[in-house]
Amino acid sequence: MMSTGWFTALTHLLFYLNLWRYTLLQALVDMAGNNRPFSEWVQLENFNCPAARCPSKKPFTWVCARDGNYTYMNALGRMKCSTNAHNGNIISWTWNCGDDFHNGEYLAADLEGFTFALSQAVQLMGKMGSAWVANLITELGKQYGH
Ligand SMILES: [Zn+2]
Ligand SMILES: [Zn+2]
Repeated sequence: MMSTGWFTALTHLLFYLNLWRYTLLQALVDMAGNNRPFSEWVQLENFNCPAARCPSKKPFTWVCARDGNYTYMNALGRMKCSTNAHNGNIISWTWNCGDDFHNGEYLAADLEGFTFALSQAVQLMGKMGSAWVANLITELGKQYGH
């Protein structure tokens, strides 16, 4: 029969193992990018059309209208294409998802459209982290004058 002391020691061991596992998990989450710098770029893939009032609810991989390169954004509210030949604030960027709503035209995003698209981009938010997303929303608020 095991003594109480043995149980106590075992409980402590399990406690420290769990603690260690928890710390390791936190480290892995951080390494997975849960706390990315605001200036870090993320590619816009699986991202809904943020154009004002566009009814499309499909996610797209976005490319630059001028050269077809992939597009990126950061939490400072900036957009760019992969060569950085074209860049600007999110408010100045235009979007065309191909939906009939656009009538072939590139349209600006509004705050509502962009924050909705962002709210659907679960993978992106997980990758960049909550602080990154919160800062992006603050920057959008500044750009759109709210
Ligand atoms: Zn470009
Ligand atoms: Zn659209």
